[in-house]
Amino acid sequence: MERKEEELKKIKNEVLSCKKCSLYKERVENRFFPVIGEGNHQAKVMFVGEAPGLQEAKTGRPFCGAAGKILDELLELVGIKREEVYIANLLKCRPPENRDPLPEESKACTPYLERQIEMIKPEVICPLGRHSMNFLMEKFGLGDRIEGISKIHGRLFKNKGLFQDIAIVPFYHPAVAVYNPNMKKVLKEDFKILKTIIK
Ligand code: URA
Ligand code: SF4
Repeated sequence: MERKEEELKKIKNEVLSCKKCSLYKERVENRFFPVIGEGNHQAKVMFVGEAPGLQEAKTGRPFCGAAGKILDELLELVGIKREEVYIANLLKCRPPENRDPLPEESKACTPYLERQIEMIKPEVICPLGRHSMNFLMEKFGLGDRIEGISKIHGRLFKNKGLFQDIAIVPFYHPAVAVYNPNMKKVLKEDFKILKTIIK
C-alpha cells in the first residue's frame, strides 16, 4: 500500500513537469493543467478517456465538462459513485482544439497510464472511445480482437493473462452523447454490464 501511494504521487509529480511531447507547450502557453487522473486508488473499475478537453485543462480534473456530465449520469444509472472508480486519460495534456492524439503523443504519454494501471490494479478497465480502446486492447493481448468501436462497444473481453486478470469493456466516448440522445441510449444499455461485473 505504501508503495502504491508513493508511486502514484511520483507519477503525479512527473506529469506536472513533463515535457515529453509537444503538448507541454500548449499546456504552458495556456496555463493549463495536465489531467493526471483521480478517484479511488482501490477501484475495481477504471475508466480511461482520451485527453483533457478545455474544462479539464483549466481545472486539472478529468471529465468535469459536458462529457463528464454524461459520464456522471451513466454512473448514477448503474449505482456506481464517482468516488468508487478511478478516471484517467490516454493523454494527460490537452491537444489543441481537442484533435485526435498523435501516435508520438500517445507513445510519449501512455507509460504514465501503464504505471497508474499497474498500481491501481482494477478488475475492469473501460476505455472510453476508440483511441483508448485500441491502445488498451493492444496492451492487454487483445489486439487480434480489435474491431470498430461500433461493433464491439459494451462487450467484455478477458485478457489472456499477459499482464493481470483485468477485463476490458470498451464504451463509446460519452462526448458522442452530448447532442445525440440515441447514442446516450446506447451508452446507457452498455453501462448496465458494469452492474453484473462488480456487484
Ligand atoms: N474527454 C476525455 O476524453 N477526457 C476527459 O477527461 C474529458 C473529456
Ligand atoms: Fe508529457 Fe503526456 Fe503532457 Fe505529453 S501529454 S507533455 S507526454 S504529460
